[in-house]
Amino acid sequence: MNHSQAFSPDYATARRRFREAVTRLGWELEAFPIGGVGPNGEELAFDVACSPGGDFANSLVVSGGLHGVEGFFGSAVQLALLDGWANGSKPLPRLNCVLLHGLNPHGFAWLRRFDENNVDPNRNFLLPGELYSGSPAKYPQFNSFLNPERPPSAWEPFTLKALWMIARHGMSAVKQAVAAGQYDFPKGVFYGGAGPSRTNQLLDEHLPRWLKGSREVVHLDFHTGLGRFAECKLLIDYPLTDRQRTRLMDWYGTGSYEDCGPSGISYDARGGFGHWCVSRRFADDYLFACAEFGTYGPIPMFAGVRAENQAHHWGKPNAAGTIRAKKRLRELFSPSSDEWRSRVLKHGIELVDRAVAGLTNDAAKPV
Ligand SMILES: [Zn+2]
Repeated sequence: MNHSQAFSPDYATARRRFREAVTRLGWELEAFPIGGVGPNGEELAFDVACSPGGDFANSLVVSGGLHGVEGFFGSAVQLALLDGWANGSKPLPRLNCVLLHGLNPHGFAWLRRFDENNVDPNRNFLLPGELYSGSPAKYPQFNSFLNPERPPSAWEPFTLKALWMIARHGMSAVKQAVAAGQYDFPKGVFYGGAGPSRTNQLLDEHLPRWLKGSREVVHLDFHTGLGRFAECKLLIDYPLTDRQRTRLMDWYGTGSYEDCGPSGISYDARGGFGHWCVSRRFADDYLFACAEFGTYGPIPMFAGVRAENQAHHWGKPNAAGTIRAKKRLRELFSPSSDEWRSRVLKHGIELVDRAVAGLTNDAAKPV
């Protein structure tokens, strides 16, 4: 399968292909419909594939689509992996494999980054005892700029306004204020929700079962939209142990990962999926990396997220401006460029292959 074939044209096709590939391989498949339908009346569900039998001491988790529209890439990686394992071009991993497809099926189908309740799922994983309230200090001040209560306009001088904000406050401060996650503006961008989302609850309930008591887990969660075009960074939002740090360097090289902080491509966010998986102690050693692949620059990305959010809340579903905003968001998070698709897919598969090799070699060593 070449790279252009692995990318599906829409959520329904991606889901059907994922399920067919899992069935062909003879793996176990589970589906969790979230209610509601996609643009063509299709069922929306979060699908899970698990490898049967084998060695359960180690688990590999490959997830995608937490940010809806970013799911085109995660789905392509999963499909290419399943295809390679099924056609024998790569050996089946000798460990427990769990593939989470379309973690935010609503966003995937409707070309949104957020879910059916406007929640950013990667800000929703607060730990027990953390409150779903509060915002970064400057978010309320930026709110009228971030979340105008009107449909998007093609004529708004967004770039100028954004540049002015960045000049005034600094890029790191703006990134931190805007994207770190907020719990006070339910129609705003980067809203973390009022309680655990359905995906959050499903994972809490079922992830321990899928991990089958593994002591070691490596989890790659695929995302797009941050960083340089087609380049990858592994983002870590929790304190790494020395062993985990060594693994990341051995497997992926120095400079392949970044602890979150406003100086890098990322920012400190609340309610991150990785931090939650690690803190919940689903395994003795849970190495989680958000595999983030760059597309376009931060200003067009933010303009696109903002315009789609305006269209979603204040535009008519079939209005030209709404359709344009969604099409644009899709291009921003899943570029149509052959070069981008080819590079990110190759790199994404390599990340998984090296994790499999690393986990399998480690398993072969006496403890
Ligand atoms: Zn993302």
